[in-house]
Amino acid sequence: MPQAFPFSAIVGQHEMKLAIVISAIDPGIGGVLVFGDRGTGKSTAVRALAALLPKMRAVVGCPYGCDPGAPAGACDSCQVNATKRSAAKTPFKSHLVPVPVVDLPLGATEDRVVGSLDLERALSQGTKAFEPGLLARAHRGFLYIDEVNLLEDHLVDLLIDVAASGENVVEREGLSVRHPARFVLVGSGNPEEGELRPQLLDRFGLSVEVKTPSEIAARIEVVRRRDAYERDSAAFGAMWKKEEERLRRRIVAARARLSKVEVPDAALERAAQLCMRLGTDGLRGELTLMRAARALAAFEGDASVDDPHLRRIAAPALRHRLRRDPLDEAGSSARVERAVQELFGA
Ligand SMILES: [Zn+2]
Repeated sequence: MPQAFPFSAIVGQHEMKLAIVISAIDPGIGGVLVFGDRGTGKSTAVRALAALLPKMRAVVGCPYGCDPGAPAGACDSCQVNATKRSAAKTPFKSHLVPVPVVDLPLGATEDRVVGSLDLERALSQGTKAFEPGLLARAHRGFLYIDEVNLLEDHLVDLLIDVAASGENVVEREGLSVRHPARFVLVGSGNPEEGELRPQLLDRFGLSVEVKTPSEIAARIEVVRRRDAYERDSAAFGAMWKKEEERLRRRIVAARARLSKVEVPDAALERAAQLCMRLGTDGLRGELTLMRAARALAAFEGDASVDDPHLRRIAAPALRHRLRRDPLDEAGSSARVERAVQELFGA
């Protein structure tokens, strides 16, 4: 398998890159919805970031790739084993695995997504065994759905529920299985091909818009890098190694710092004012804005959330939560930008 395209070598698309990094720092933010033209490197960006993240330690033989260092969040079988092993003082056998990126194809059946009864074993051995699905494979990594707007509503609902709860529960055909499934959901959508229901939009943490670059210089650079990568991915990877290493260290440090970043009352007040001005429904907008600003502050190495963090992350956190305003012709990005300028100053 060729080396993944280096994340740092992606030209432009700053907002998309930042949103994916922020989601990787705090997976609890709720994933990213990427709107935009085809061929703008959405899937490349997710794969590139996953490849950049440090490999994860996983329990050997566990179908969910549980973390041996965190038995509390592990599957039932690993939890039982953890108790036995700690009594016998024998640690788990573990190995390092890459952060998974699982593609969810549009035609996938619910069985394939959530897992199903292993029919072969049921017939040959008469035992009811669980055949894990795509959600199991995505645990601790990314689940990528191209054209999420074309996915059946019940599957989108299910995915968002699992992404929010971090657990997949399967009850059917006499099977009752519950396993951890914590992943960052990344959906891509082309707004011209079917809309997402507003209640679903609202449940994605961040949303970004990507466009094919319109400046000649940027277009040339995209083509040049793509060509160099395709001719010799290893040599291209070596050229970007230092940049990638630097970004990896920043993300690892941000994850470690995240819980210590303070959110002062003044920042909460700003977030509330911004959401009120924009008329976003409910409190999910504020909560996401606060969490994303905190992850951004952690990424920047700052000790507390301040106006610049809120400003920078406001559009991705809020633009997909605005109600249509028939009297306002401006697009949602422009509306957020306008409200930010009114509140924070130009
Ligand atoms: Zn396990």
